Amino acid sequence: MEKKVVRVGVIGCGSIGNQHIDRLMNKISQTTVTLVCDYFVEAAKKTADRFGVKYVENVDELINSNEVDAVLITSADESHAEYVLKCIAAGKYVFCEKPLSQTAKEAETMIEEELKHNKRLVQVGFMRRYDKGYMEMKKAIEDGEIGEPLIIHAAHRNLSQAAGFETDYAITRVAIHEIDICRWLLADEYESVQVLKVKQSSRTVGDWLNPQMMILTTKSGQHINLEVQTDHSYGYDIQCQVVGEDGTLNLPDPAAVVKRIGGKCAFGIMDDWSKRFIDAYDVELEKWAIDILDGKLTGPSTWDGYISCVASDALIKSRKTGVPEKVETIEKPDLYK
Ligand code: NAP
Repeated sequence: MEKKVVRVGVIGCGSIGNQHIDRLMNKISQTTVTLVCDYFVEAAKKTADRFGVKYVENVDELINSNEVDAVLITSADESHAEYVLKCIAAGKYVFCEKPLSQTAKEAETMIEEELKHNKRLVQVGFMRRYDKGYMEMKKAIEDGEIGEPLIIHAAHRNLSQAAGFETDYAITRVAIHEIDICRWLLADEYESVQVLKVKQSSRTVGDWLNPQMMILTTKSGQHINLEVQTDHSYGYDIQCQVVGEDGTLNLPDPAAVVKRIGGKCAFGIMDDWSKRFIDAYDVELEKWAIDILDGKLTGPSTWDGYISCVASDALIKSRKTGVPEKVETIEKPDLYK
């Protein structure tokens, strides 16, 4: 019997685009890449040459191609909403890297359009849900090992940012991962969010606020405090501790040799996301392909992408107003329950 494979078209041939193409072509047995495309045609040509695939200059051509069963969007944040909507209109499965959109309003439109198909077509790239550490924490919570979870202490620390980084991006591009993973761990929705003014790092090279402290409160009153550093931290370091009534859970650091040398005991800390979550990206894309072949997506949905955008919008507003802002959403459609 011929093996079924999902033929993927990739929009966005930058850093993560190339890494995902490599996964889809060389690591995951259920996928292949047939077409690539990029706003910058030279980037598409280069990637096409590198992987021996075809490129097109036009996004519509890629989305509507008979050679493409599903689309992967790894282009710049600002382009996500337009391309996801085009994929939904074409009735194609689409995996969109985070953030799903720039505002909650755009994500709401995606929900309306997806509902017309009465079928999930969209998955969002919240890969931490596929990380072994977070998965074990989720299971321990579900098994009641720490009793009722009460508090999360989280930190997201980065070494540097690409040119053009802005204050809002610490929320829309960086904290967006914690916004999703904390509500997933706690299985609760947000009631309100706040950004606190804190002392700024003199090490920040760019012209943006760093660090930023965020407080998120769930409907049942659980408290999440999140530290986001976007420049000149000591490494790429992701920390998460869930405090429950009966115990605490800590996200493990990635496996690394512990060196005892010269009177010191130490292990290395990674410097970027691509290494830190390398296994999670493999697992999320493999599961996405398996779900497509089964005809039913199970990963992070348009609803999850929407919620994260509602919370981001409220955090950005709170940074300006200085007070907690409510997280107000539309009613959850049955498709996402
Ligand atoms: P990148 O290296 O800048 O790549 C983005 C690519 O998309 C560039 O080649 C860019 O071309 C192209 N592009 C920009 N606008 C486009 C458009 N309108 N249509 C088609 N292509 C367009 O950025 P990246 O680091 O790979 O990030 C890509 C996306 O993945 C971002 O949304 C980012 O937030 C997300 N991401 C997610 C994770 C995660 O952990 N899940 C990690 C990294 C990145 P130009 O160079 O000409 O602008």
